[in-house]
Amino acid sequence: MIKQFVPQEFCIKCRGCCRFKEADSVWSPCLLDEEIQELLDKKGIPAASISINRRLHLIPNPDGADFICPFLGSTDNKCKIYDIRPFECQLYPFLINLRKGKVLLTVDLNCPYVSEKINSQEAKDYIIYLTNYLNSPQVLKMLKDNPQVIQAYEEVREVAELNLKKGTSSAGTPL
Ligand code: SF4
Ligand code: SF4
Repeated sequence: MIKQFVPQEFCIKCRGCCRFKEADSVWSPCLLDEEIQELLDKKGIPAASISINRRLHLIPNPDGADFICPFLGSTDNKCKIYDIRPFECQLYPFLINLRKGKVLLTVDLNCPYVSEKINSQEAKDYIIYLTNYLNSPQVLKMLKDNPQVIQAYEEVREVAELNLKKGTSSAGTPL
């Protein structure tokens, strides 16, 4: 599990995550191959709940015109699979980003908590922690094996470069 930057209590009140404007939003969590297996095996979710591009199928929000993650609790605003939530959910508001052939750690300043704290010592320390974590051999291998989580987000701020280059993943697929 990745150490969190944003306190859980802040997120529960914010209601900024786990909701998406479109059913096929690029911001919906992309899953690692092992996470797909875990969700199918441990949570018993139907295979049809995971799209061909390895994302969770979002569902219409019963309380609005947008779409929500199927694991978002509608009454308490909590993640129903918090202890095994996907890597991308643990990482946000930080994201792994492919830009001009470089694999970057970026941050989405639409998150109000990180937007306010981004220049703080706390954020600087966290970015060092997160960069070291992502650059560990085990996590770099996981990223190489799961190129689907290295995406080209726009309007996110670069905070560090990871020790991965655009090329070929361990599975032989383009990174
Ligand atoms: S936008 Fe930021 S503060 Fe709001 S729920 Fe998401 S991570 Fe938490
Ligand atoms: S898995 Fe949990 S944290 Fe991730 S989008 Fe769904 S409800 Fe949110």
